[in-house]
Amino acid sequence: MAAAETDREAPSALCAEYLDFSTKDTASEWLRASDLPKEVYQHLAFHVPKIYCLGPNLNPQSEELRAQLQLLAPLEWYLFGEEPTLALARLETSNQPSQLCGHVFKVGEPTYSCRECASDPTCVLCMQCFLGSVHKEHRYRMTTSGGGGFCDCGDAEAWKEAPYCQKHEPNSSYCSEDPLAQLSEDMVARCYNIFSVVLKYAVDMLTWDKEELLPAGLEHPDRADTYYCMLFNDEVHTYEQVIYTLQKAVNCTQKEAVSFATTVDRDGRKSVRFGDFQFCEQAKSIIVRHTSRQSKPLKVQVMHSSVVAHQCFALKILAWLGHILGYSDALRRILCQVGLQRGPEGENSSLVDTLMLCDSKMWKGARNVYHQLLMNSLLMDLKYKKLFAIQFAKNYRCLQTDFMDDDHERVVSVTSLSVQLFTVPTVARMLIVEENLMTTIIRTFVDHLRHRDLQGRFQFERYTALQAFKFRRVQSLIGDLKYVLISRPSEWSEQLREKFLEGLDAFLELLKCMQGMDPVVRQVGQHIEMEPEWEAAFTLQMKLTHIISMMQEWCATDERVLIEAYKRCLSALSQCHGGFTDGEQPISLSLAGHSVETIRYQVSQEKVSIHLPVSRLLAGLHVLLSKTDLANRFPEQLPLSELSPPMLLEHPLRCLVLCAQVHAGMWRRNGFSLINQIYYYHNVKCRVEMFDKDIIMLQVAASMMDPNHFLLVVLSRFELFHIFSSADCRKRYRDGNKDVVQQNNTLIEEMLHLIIMVVGERYVQGVGQVESCDDIRREIIHQLSIKPMAHSELVKALPENENKETGLEKVIDTVALFKKPGVTGRGLYELRPDWTKHFNLYFHHYSRADQSKAEEAQRKLKRQNAEDSALPPPSVPPLCPLFASLVNLLQCDVLLSLLCAVLQWTTEPSGGHCTESMLQRVLHLMGMALLEEKQQLESSSGDDDITFSFTSKISRPGEAPSTSGSILALLESLQNAPHLEAHKDMIHWILKMVLNIKTQRERSASTSAVSTWGTSQEAVGERDKAERKRKAEMARLRREKVMAQMSEMQIHFINQNKELFQQSLQELDASAAPPGGHASSTPCTVGPEVLVCVGPRTVPLPERSRQTVTCILCQEEQEVRTDGRAMVLAAFVQRSTVLSKNRSRPLPDPEHHDPLFMHPDLAFGTHTASCGHIMHATCWQRYFEAVQVKEQRRQQRLRVHTSYDVENGEFLCPLCECLSNTVIPLLPHTHCVEQPCPVQSSLEVWINSVSQLTAAQTEVDQQTEGRTAEEGVEACGEGSSLNCPGSTFSSSVQEMLTTFGTATYKIGLKVNPNDQDPRVAVMSWASCAYTIQSIERLLTDEEKPLFGSLPCRQDECLRSLARFGSSCWTVAGLETVHKHFTRLLAAVVPDMKLNTPCVLDMDMFHLLVSMVFSYSSVPNLDQSEPSCIGSAHLHLLQLITVTHTVQILISSAPESSMEQENSGSELEEEEMTLRLYNTLRTRLDGLLPEVSSGWHLWRCVQAGILPFLRSAAIFFHHLNAVAAPPELTVAGHCQWDALCSYLSLPSNLLQLYYSHHTLLEPFLQGWCCHPGVKKALQGDEAVIRFPRESNRLIQLPDDYSALINHASSFTCPRSGGDKSRAPTLCLVCGALLCSQSYCCQTEVEGDDVGACTAHTFSCGAGLGLFLRVRESQVLFLAGKTKGCFYPPPYLDDYGETDQGLRRGNPLRLCSQRYRQIQKLWQQHSVTEQIGHAQEANQSLVGIDWQHL
Ligand SMILES: [Zn+2]
Ligand SMILES: [Zn+2]
Ligand SMILES: [Zn+2]
Ligand SMILES: [Zn+2]
Ligand SMILES: [Zn+2]
Ligand SMILES: [Zn+2]
Ligand SMILES: [Zn+2]
Repeated sequence: MAAAETDREAPSALCAEYLDFSTKDTASEWLRASDLPKEVYQHLAFHVPKIYCLGPNLNPQSEELRAQLQLLAPLEWYLFGEEPTLALARLETSNQPSQLCGHVFKVGEPTYSCRECASDPTCVLCMQCFLGSVHKEHRYRMTTSGGGGFCDCGDAEAWKEAPYCQKHEPNSSYCSEDPLAQLSEDMVARCYNIFSVVLKYAVDMLTWDKEELLPAGLEHPDRADTYYCMLFNDEVHTYEQVIYTLQKAVNCTQKEAVSFATTVDRDGRKSVRFGDFQFCEQAKSIIVRHTSRQSKPLKVQVMHSSVVAHQCFALKILAWLGHILGYSDALRRILCQVGLQRGPEGENSSLVDTLMLCDSKMWKGARNVYHQLLMNSLLMDLKYKKLFAIQFAKNYRCLQTDFMDDDHERVVSVTSLSVQLFTVPTVARMLIVEENLMTTIIRTFVDHLRHRDLQGRFQFERYTALQAFKFRRVQSLIGDLKYVLISRPSEWSEQLREKFLEGLDAFLELLKCMQGMDPVVRQVGQHIEMEPEWEAAFTLQMKLTHIISMMQEWCATDERVLIEAYKRCLSALSQCHGGFTDGEQPISLSLAGHSVETIRYQVSQEKVSIHLPVSRLLAGLHVLLSKTDLANRFPEQLPLSELSPPMLLEHPLRCLVLCAQVHAGMWRRNGFSLINQIYYYHNVKCRVEMFDKDIIMLQVAASMMDPNHFLLVVLSRFELFHIFSSADCRKRYRDGNKDVVQQNNTLIEEMLHLIIMVVGERYVQGVGQVESCDDIRREIIHQLSIKPMAHSELVKALPENENKETGLEKVIDTVALFKKPGVTGRGLYELRPDWTKHFNLYFHHYSRADQSKAEEAQRKLKRQNAEDSALPPPSVPPLCPLFASLVNLLQCDVLLSLLCAVLQWTTEPSGGHCTESMLQRVLHLMGMALLEEKQQLESSSGDDDITFSFTSKISRPGEAPSTSGSILALLESLQNAPHLEAHKDMIHWILKMVLNIKTQRERSASTSAVSTWGTSQEAVGERDKAERKRKAEMARLRREKVMAQMSEMQIHFINQNKELFQQSLQELDASAAPPGGHASSTPCTVGPEVLVCVGPRTVPLPERSRQTVTCILCQEEQEVRTDGRAMVLAAFVQRSTVLSKNRSRPLPDPEHHDPLFMHPDLAFGTHTASCGHIMHATCWQRYFEAVQVKEQRRQQRLRVHTSYDVENGEFLCPLCECLSNTVIPLLPHTHCVEQPCPVQSSLEVWINSVSQLTAAQTEVDQQTEGRTAEEGVEACGEGSSLNCPGSTFSSSVQEMLTTFGTATYKIGLKVNPNDQDPRVAVMSWASCAYTIQSIERLLTDEEKPLFGSLPCRQDECLRSLARFGSSCWTVAGLETVHKHFTRLLAAVVPDMKLNTPCVLDMDMFHLLVSMVFSYSSVPNLDQSEPSCIGSAHLHLLQLITVTHTVQILISSAPESSMEQENSGSELEEEEMTLRLYNTLRTRLDGLLPEVSSGWHLWRCVQAGILPFLRSAAIFFHHLNAVAAPPELTVAGHCQWDALCSYLSLPSNLLQLYYSHHTLLEPFLQGWCCHPGVKKALQGDEAVIRFPRESNRLIQLPDDYSALINHASSFTCPRSGGDKSRAPTLCLVCGALLCSQSYCCQTEVEGDDVGACTAHTFSCGAGLGLFLRVRESQVLFLAGKTKGCFYPPPYLDDYGETDQGLRRGNPLRLCSQRYRQIQKLWQQHSVTEQIGHAQEANQSLVGIDWQHL
C-alpha cells in the first residue's frame, strides 16, 4: 500500500477551483450547444478523473461535494434552468404521487403479507403501509426481507381487497392524465436530452470491458498513467482465503485485509492497490498465484484509473437519477422512455436491454445500483412496467442462460426481477399471449437439463458438481413458471387457450422425460454396491408439484381447455406406453368363476419406476372431468373409448406394489435410496401429485372395469394369485420358508389395505360428492386422532398449496378445541369428541406408525368412555357418477373369495398363518360393505333399485374349496375363538349390522320375518352368555393392567421427584416450604424472649450445635465437626454483574485489583451457589479424579468438548448433574459454647480498645515486616496459636477450607490459584456478601418473606458460606486477616494515615461482612473485658449502620418537591434525621441541597437502608444460627420494627448516632472531609443512590416486528454503514451487536471472538443473554466455549414460538416467559441452564459459540 498514502489535494486548491467554476455557465453553454452529448462528455472527460482518479479515498465528504458541484449541479441546472432545489421542491408539490408505495426493502426489514387478501405470497407491504392498512386486522404473515423487492401497496392487482393503505389511498381528485402534461414542453425536451446522454454514459461505463481505454469522447488528452488493482468477488473463495491472500499480496495488516474482503463481498469489487502499472500487476500476479491452486483463481484486473473513475461516477449518476425521479412522476416517465427507446442496432438494443444482457458481466455493486433504478423507474410506472416486462420476456432465454454461467447468487441477478413482473396477473397473461412466455420458460428449462437416457428420460446419475450447481440454478425457472401460473384466469380468450395449450404441450414434453426415470430393479443375492442418485429426480418432482396442480386448476376453469388437455395428456401417455402390449404372450388368470388376460410382468423381477407424472396428470384431469360433469354432458368430445383401463392401471399399480414389497422386506438389498424414495412418495410434500394420484388412477381404472377383473390383475401384480387360486391354495402352508410366508402375509395385508383405499377414499372432489373443505377437515381429524397437536405440527402434516396455505384455519375450530400453553410448552388442538366417529383406521395418509398410534389412542378413548373397543369404518360420502361402480368391488366374487379364504385360515388350528392385521382388514372391508348396503337401503324408496346385496352374498354357502358354509357362518364361529379376543367387538359389530340390515330388508319387503327373527333371537341369547364371560375376562385383564399401571406410576413418581430435585433455582416458588418447613426457619417457641440474631443476647438454636449429614457418594452418615472428616457441599462460583449499577466500568486488572472495599455500584461480584448435595471431602476428591481421567481419555479419543471444563475444576454434581466448580466445607456452629454476656460494653469503650489493639498489632506487624519471609510465616503460625477458638481443625477440614478459598479467589479475580495471596480471604468474604445481597434482591422483587421461602439448598449454601467466612482466618493467617481488619476499621473510624475510600465509595454490607469475619483476628489482650465476640459484632453493625445512614443522606437526599403524607407517629425520627442532615450540610459547605422536611428524609433513610438491614438479618441468622422471628417469615411490607429488633437495633436508627454523639461527631467530620466526598458531589459522575433498584432485563416491544424493524436499521459499527447480517440484542443492556460476522470479531484474552462473546466480557463478566433478532431465538453464552439456545419470549396466536422465523405468524411478547428468563438471570442460573441444555443435547457442545 505504499502509494496509497499519497495526500489528496490541499483544501485551498479545492476552493480555488470552485471559484473558477460556475455550474450555471456550464449549463447555459450546454443549452446553446448543437451537440449536447459531445459537450457533456467533454465536461465529464475533464472533471471525472480529477475527482475519482486519486487512489484510495481518504476524504469521502470532499469527493461527494466536488462531484455534486462540478458534475451533478450542471446537469440539474441544465434540466431546470434555475436553482435546482427550488425547482425540485416545486415539482414535488405539483406532482401527483404514484399510488404505488414502491419502498425497496433493505436486508432484514420486516415485510407483511395478508393471508386473506394477497393475490399471492409474494405480495408484501412495508411496515408503514401495513400499519396503515386494514390487513393488520386480518390473518397476516410476517417475514424478513432478503433484500431487493418492494412494497406492493397501491397495486390493485396484488390485493384481492384493500390494495391501498391510508397514505397511498388515491384521492378523489386523482386524474389519470399523462403526468407529462404538468411539465413545459421545453423542459420535457431538455429532460429527454439530458437523460439520454447521462443514461447512455452510465450504461456505456458499466458495461465497459476494456481495462485501459475509454469510450469515444471520454478520453482525456493529458491523462496521468495511474492504475488500480481491482479485486472482484466470487462465490468460490472463502473470507479466510481472501484475507490471507491479500495480506501476502499487498502487504497490508489483517485489519485492512478484513476491510477489503468485506467490501469485495458487499460491493463485488474493491481496489486493493493504486500506483503505476508494474506495481499493480505485481499484486495481481501474487493474488492469482495464491488462489489458483485448488480452484479457479480470484478475478483481479489492473485497470486504468480513469476507467475506474468513470465507472464510479456512472454509479453516482444512476443514483442521482433515482433520486431526481422521486420528485416527479413526469421525470420518471421520461426516463422510462429513454431507457426503453430502441437503439440503433434494432430490436432489443435499448439501454435497458443492454444493461440486462450485460448483467452477468457486471460486478455486484453495479448490478445493485441499476436494479434499484429499474425498480424506482420502470416498475413504478404501470404503463412502462408492461413494456419492460415484454423486453424482459423477449430476453428471457438469454438472461437465464447467462445466469447459469454466472457465479453470483440469484438476488443480485436481473433474473430475480421476474417476481416483480410475472406475479402481476394481467402482465403474466399478456406475456403468455404475446410472448408465449409459458412455453419459453418450460423450453428453456428442458434445454438446461441435458442428460438423458436411451429412452430420452432425464438421468441425473452421473451429474458432476458443476452440473449439479446448474441444476440448482435452473430450478429458479420453475419458480418463474409458478409466478406466471399463480393467478388463474377468470376469462379465456382464444389466444390464451392456444398459448396455454402450447405451453401444456411443452410441459407434457417435460413430464414425458420424467415418466419412468430412475427405474429400479430388485437386488437379489448381493446388496447394491453404490446407492444410486435419487435426490435430483425427487427435487424436480417436488419443485414441479405445485406447477402440476396449478396446470390442473387452470384446465378446470375452462371446459374446452380441459377437454383438449385431457386428449393431449392421454396421447402423451400412450406414447410413453408405446409397446405396452407387445412382446410376450399374455397370461390368463381365473378365480371364483372369473377369468382375465393380462401381461406377464413381475415387479420383483423387472424394472419399475416411482416417477409417473404423465399418468398422474391424467388421473387429475380425469377427476376434473368427473367434477365438472363434462364426461356426462359431452361424452362425444372425449376420447373415452380410447381409454384402456388395464393400460391406465398398470404403472401406478406397479408403483404401489413396489411400496408393498418394500414394506414386506423384499427390497432390503436395494439400500437406503429406495427407502428414501418410498418415504417421499408418501410424504406430504409430494403425495398430492404422487401417491394420491396413483390411488385415483386405480379408482379410475376400477370404475371402468369388471371389478373381478380388476382384482385379478391386482392379485397378479402383488404376486399373490397363486395363494388364492383354488389350485394353489394349500401351497402356502406347505411352503416351509418362514421368510416367504411372512412376506406374503405382509403383501396380503398391503393388498387388502389398497382395496380399502380404492373403495373408501372419496374425499377428492370429483371422486366423491364432497365439499371443498371436507378433505382438509378429514385430514385434521385424522391427525388429531393420533394425539393433540400444536398448530405448527398440523400445518406440517398438511399439504400446502402454491400460496403456502393449507386451509387449516377455515375448519380447525369446527373440529378441534384449542388449549392455551402455560409458561412452557405450546398451545395444542384437541379433537372435539363428536368428530371421533369419523375416524378411519385405514386412512390413506397414515404411515404404519401413525396407524398404530392412532389405533391405540382411539381404543383408549373408547375405554375411557366405557364403549366397546371396535373401530368400525366410518360412513363415507357417496361417489360421483363416474366412479359409482367402485362400490361393486366390495361385493364381487373375487373379493368374497379373498375374504372367505382369510377367515378360513383364521379358523384353522395353525392360526399363525393368518395375521391379526389381515383379519382386521378383512373385517374392515366387510364393515365398509355393510355400511354401503345400509346407506343404499336408507336412501332408496324400494327394494328394486338396490343393487348392493352384500348380506345375502355372505349368507350364501361357500363354494369349493371352502366347503365350510357361508362367510357369515364362518364369522359367527369366530366370535368366540379365544385367540381373537382383540377382534371380538368388531365381529360383534358386524354381526349386529348384518342383523340390522336383514331386519330392514325384511321390513321393507314386509314378508314374514318371524322365523329368521327366532333364530337370530336364539343366537342373541347365546351371544349374551358369551358376552358375560367375555366381560369377566375383560375385568380380570383390566385389573392386571391397573396393577401394572400402579407400579409404573411409582417409577414415574420417583423419576419426577428426581427432576423436582434437580430443578434449578427457577422453581423457587414451588419449593417454598411453609414457615417451619425446615429447622433453620423454625420460629422459636422457647419463650417470650425476643429473638435477636446478633449481639450478646443471641440465643442459638440448640439442635444446630450438632449436625449429622449423609454423603451422597458412599451413603455413610457423618457428624459435622471441625476435627473430623471434612464434609463438603458441591458449589458453583461465578463472576456476576447481575447487581451492577455501572456496566461501563472497565474490568478490574486481575493482578493489582484490591477487592477489600466493594464499590456501591456493585459492578462486579462473585456469586456462589450450590445444589445442596453433601459429600465426604475424600469421596469428592476420588470422584473428581475419576472424572478428570475419564475426560482426558474422552478428549483424546473423540476430541469433543463436554458441557464442563475439567481443567478449570468444573464437574457435575454426582447426584443432580448440576454444574459445579468447587466445594464448600461444612462447619459446625462454633459460638454456641460462648456464655451470653451479662453486660454489654459501651460502643465508646469498645472502639477505644479495638483501636488500641489494632494500633499495637500494626506496630508488631511493622516490626515483623523487617524479618525474612520464612520468619513471617512462622510468626503467622505463632499468632494463630495466640487466640483461636477453633484451632482444632483437622487437616482434612483445613484442606477443604483452602480449596474453597482458593477457588473463589481464582474465579473471582481470574488469576492463577495461589493460596498465599492475602486476597484469598477477602474474595470469599465478598462472595458471601454478594450472594446474600443477590438473594435479598430476589426475595424483595418477588415479594417473598425474608425467611422461610428459600429452598433448603440455598439455606445450606448460605450457612456454609457464613461459617466458612468466620473460619477462614485459619487458612489465610491471622496476621493477614488482621491487616485487612485494620484497613476496614480505618474506613469507618477515620484514620488519615491509611488510604481508605470515602464513605460514598463503599458498599456497607460488604464492609459489614468483611469486618465481622476479620474481627476474629483481633487479639483479646485485656482479659478484664468480657470476651464477647457477639457484642463486638453488634458494635460493628451499629457503627456501620450509622455510616450507611450518613451515606444515604449524602447521596440520596430527596427532591423537596415530593408530596408529603401525613403521619404523626414518627415525629422524633423525622426531627432527628433533619438535624443530622443539616449537620452534614454544614460540614459539606452546602454541597447538599436544602431540604426542609424531615418526613422525606426519614422515609428516604428507611427505604435506602432496608436492603442493608435485610441482608444483615440473613447474614447473622446464618452466622449465629438463630431462629427467624415469625413476623419475618410472612410476606408483607411493614416489618421495619421486627427487623430492627431482630438486629438489636433501635427502630429509630438515628438514636444510634445521637446516643453516641460525642464519639461519632469526629467520625462524621472525618467522613465528610474525605476529598472523595466533595469530588463525587461536585463531579459529573452519577453518585449511587439508595436503595439501589433491582436490575431487570431490558423492556421488549409487544410486537416482534417492531424489533425486526429496529434491527433492520442497525448497521455494523465496523464496516461503514453495512447492514448487519445477524443483529443481536443484549437483553441485559439493550446493545445491538453485529454477531456471527468477521467484521466485528475482536480479540479477548488471546482468542478471536465474535461480537456477542466480546460483549459478554464487558457487560456480563463473561455471561450474556441475547436475542437473535432474525432468528427469534434467545442465546445464552457463558465464557468462550459454552452456550445454548433458549425459546424466545415471543409467541404467536397459537401459543408457539417461531425459532428461525419460518412460519411468519405474528408474534407477541409473552411477559410471563420473559420474566422467567429474567429470573434465570437474577438467580444466576443461566450457566446451570446452559450446562443442562448441553448435557441433554450433545450437538450444542460442538457449536462454535465464541464466534457468535
Ligand atoms: Zn409501502
Ligand atoms: Zn402504502
Ligand atoms: Zn387482508
Ligand atoms: Zn462419602
Ligand atoms: Zn447436586
Ligand atoms: Zn459487523
Ligand atoms: Zn449488554
